[in-house]
Amino acid sequence: PSKEYEVKRRAIYRGVQEIWYFVQQELEKLKKKGHDQSAPELASLIQEILNSGKEHEIVLLNDLQELSSMEGHDAWRTTESRALSDLVQRRLHYLQNPVDCSKARKLVCNLNKSCGYGCQIHHAAYCFIMAYATKRTLILNSKKWRYHRGGWEKVFLPLSDTCTDPSGLDRSNWPGTNETQVIELPIVDMLSPRPTFLPLAIPRDLSERMIRLHGDPQVWWIGQFMKYLLRYQPETQKMLDQAKEKMNFKTPVVGVHVRRTDKVGTEAAFHSIDEYMLFVADFFNKLEMKEKVAVRRVYLASDDPSVLPEAKKKYPDYEFLGDVSIAKGAAVATRYTDSSLRGILVDIHMLAHSDHLVCTFSSQVCRLAYEIMQTLHPDASSKFKSLDDIYYYGGQGPHQQTAIYSHKAHRTGEISMEVGDVLGIAGNHWDGYSKGINERTKQSGLYPSFKAVDKYNIVDFPVYSEVAV
Ligand code: GDP
Repeated sequence: PSKEYEVKRRAIYRGVQEIWYFVQQELEKLKKKGHDQSAPELASLIQEILNSGKEHEIVLLNDLQELSSMEGHDAWRTTESRALSDLVQRRLHYLQNPVDCSKARKLVCNLNKSCGYGCQIHHAAYCFIMAYATKRTLILNSKKWRYHRGGWEKVFLPLSDTCTDPSGLDRSNWPGTNETQVIELPIVDMLSPRPTFLPLAIPRDLSERMIRLHGDPQVWWIGQFMKYLLRYQPETQKMLDQAKEKMNFKTPVVGVHVRRTDKVGTEAAFHSIDEYMLFVADFFNKLEMKEKVAVRRVYLASDDPSVLPEAKKKYPDYEFLGDVSIAKGAAVATRYTDSSLRGILVDIHMLAHSDHLVCTFSSQVCRLAYEIMQTLHPDASSKFKSLDDIYYYGGQGPHQQTAIYSHKAHRTGEISMEVGDVLGIAGNHWDGYSKGINERTKQSGLYPSFKAVDKYNIVDFPVYSEVAV
């Protein structure tokens, strides 16, 4: 299939989701009106429409999925995804294994950011992207890492077989010059000047292939750095395999991440287990339209140990996998110990290996699982439901969309736009509308999500011609 065909096919898939978000929300409002005005027959009629409408949506989405695999397109996607990923991985391997480490240009990154696991892995990946973009070997300084005193290499393979020594003839803080041998990188929040190649930027030389292959090439790109970074040590792999076997982790399974404790009320809102389970049910209802599902399996991860027992009690028709002791070790007070590391490794691994993710993208745990998920399928960009934010990367450059249809504001809170207007997107309200600012008119407010598409920030990165295509 051509790039245009793939882009259009995925736009239709999203369009079906968006029209349903819109109609569903509007009908829910009407239903509430029915209740408020003591018209229960009206409310129940609307509920019937909601139920049938949902079935329509599910069938359409299944049909579109089937369409995507016809005419050998799935086979093409598998081959292309492998080839493209191999190319990037070979480039990273080349970058990380210079012939002469004493002469290599290096970028030193300290893994001492005082934040959670997801945040630290994102810090490391940011450093790696900076290294790729400046063609410098990344040296990860992880001594006394708060998640493992012994350092990164106790958990993951070293980033290099030939070059882990951070010393050099001269060193400087970012940005230094092209000739400076060793450059030290601060955390992204302190980075100055800020280069153009920070996420969500994608590399120009691969962008056509990425856009053709993947529904969100920006995440695919991040995923490639995760793929290299997070190569497990045999010990880690063994621990994960055992955990998987012990809990009888099998597909089909939906991964649910419920982030509570310190996050609630500060960086995110509280969401009840019911909110997550609605979308879990959607996934299985959709699957059951195609095949028999013997067990509705859910992998449930949380930093709140009360969630798993609550879910088991409330949803007896589901089989919940997960470990309350992991959740106990995920509480703020006990978060940074060796056993908490084991817990977060297991949780993220299982979430990423699930068939679908239901979570809050405000959490780095969930975004990391989603990024890793992209490395396990040719295109897993639609295998998620976030209850809050759209995907983002901490410290990212502006996330923009382009209006592809004009729009006249007709409700309060809406903004108008013309074809080609650039919109800074703040979020999707999952009710048919997104929120953002029209950069031409400077108005900010709501616009229909289906009338805009992501505007990718395509940037010149080194093309690594030394590495065979
Ligand atoms: P964020 O704060 O949710 O954006 O993500 P971070 O990863 O930066 O920090 C949260 C930390 O809390 C994690 O790294 C874990 O240590 C812990 N945590 C949060 N949710 C979970 C979970 O579902 N399972 C486990 N094992 N730990 C969690």
